[in-house]
Amino acid sequence: MNVPLLDLKLQYATLQSEIEPMMLNIAASQVMILGPEVKKLEETLADYCDCRHAIAVSSGTDALLMALMALDIQPGDEVIVPTYSFFATAGVVARLNAVPIFVDAEPITLNISPEGIRKAITSRTKAIIPVHLYGQSANLDAIMAIAAEHNIPVIEDAAQSIGVQYSDGRKVGSIGAIGCYSFYPTKNLGAFGDAGLVTTNDDTLGTKLRLMRDHGMNPRYYHKFVGGNFRMDALQGGVLNIKFPHLEQWHEQRRKNAELYISLFKEHGLSSGEGVLEFDAENRVLLPKAVYKESGVKNYHIYNQFIIRVEKRDELREFLKEKNIGAEIYYPIPFHRQECFAHLQCRDEDYPVANKAAATTLALPVFPELTKEQIIYVVEMIKEFVHGS
Ligand SMILES: *Cc1c(COP(=O)(O)O)cnc(C)c1O
Repeated sequence: MNVPLLDLKLQYATLQSEIEPMMLNIAASQVMILGPEVKKLEETLADYCDCRHAIAVSSGTDALLMALMALDIQPGDEVIVPTYSFFATAGVVARLNAVPIFVDAEPITLNISPEGIRKAITSRTKAIIPVHLYGQSANLDAIMAIAAEHNIPVIEDAAQSIGVQYSDGRKVGSIGAIGCYSFYPTKNLGAFGDAGLVTTNDDTLGTKLRLMRDHGMNPRYYHKFVGGNFRMDALQGGVLNIKFPHLEQWHEQRRKNAELYISLFKEHGLSSGEGVLEFDAENRVLLPKAVYKESGVKNYHIYNQFIIRVEKRDELREFLKEKNIGAEIYYPIPFHRQECFAHLQCRDEDYPVANKAAATTLALPVFPELTKEQIIYVVEMIKEFVHGS
């Protein structure tokens, strides 16, 4: 059996009959940038994300960059980010010649540690960027309380977590000053190329972000501030409008797949449980824990990634590859270990949780179209690995 980490062709096959005519319409209209499809998407997503302003942009990375620009982040300003995330979260800070300040992860969720944020705040801290990693919310109550105490704006990196709810039901991305989302094809809502979204409930920031998307221009050829070309293509808007009505069902299917993995791992005695942090004598697999599940909200987790922890991670990955199963490492090198940040002289021992995650985490296939038989096969192969090694 073949089990890829992700197979986008399956999803495309179900929507092809709608997507292809839409593409031909756009071709005929020759409206290539923004236009009615993008406007419709913005209205849909403002509603879905519980935000007054939703501005469709060129990528998730650009959404983060625009958020920092809208908050007037200057060279030398400090911006607190997790050390354990996709590179964009820290890269955008460095691109503005501001200083990314890395904070370790919380052990269970691998989201940024609120206590770590508290310790990292200085008089130069101008923004905090928590990431809602893998599809569940960071600890927003604690983070927002610390930010409010010091009057520091929060930019939520919700690239992996569109539609995710915090334990009180609020949507992530609507709670901080600005929310940033990505429609990179591997995200739960994926475009036909690069695309992203930036949201806010603040009218001043909303107006500024909308102008910033098009070089800060208003009216035409008059520039009050410097923005960029951060516009979304019409084609991306069209594809996302067709995919959006299926998003909640895809989230649900990913949750079902994750639940099936968890029950099979337990049934086979392959794991000591969800959210367990230390390997036992038999080096059994450690399972992820959806920490907000008990709160009863629907989208407590959308499993953009299903992450297990394994003592012999690299060997397991190789073994699965031989069995035609796709498994990936997100992320092998935390920011504090990246060559481009060597000048920041971070102390490796300050990041024990991220370092351990980098050495042990493995993403298993969890995409919505995965079959029950495929999941059973993946768990059986992991069982073979555990018993044979
Ligand atoms: C995907 C991702 C981004 C960047 O989004 P792009 O659309 O690829 O630019 C930023 N942050 C996180 C956490 C991501 O997963």
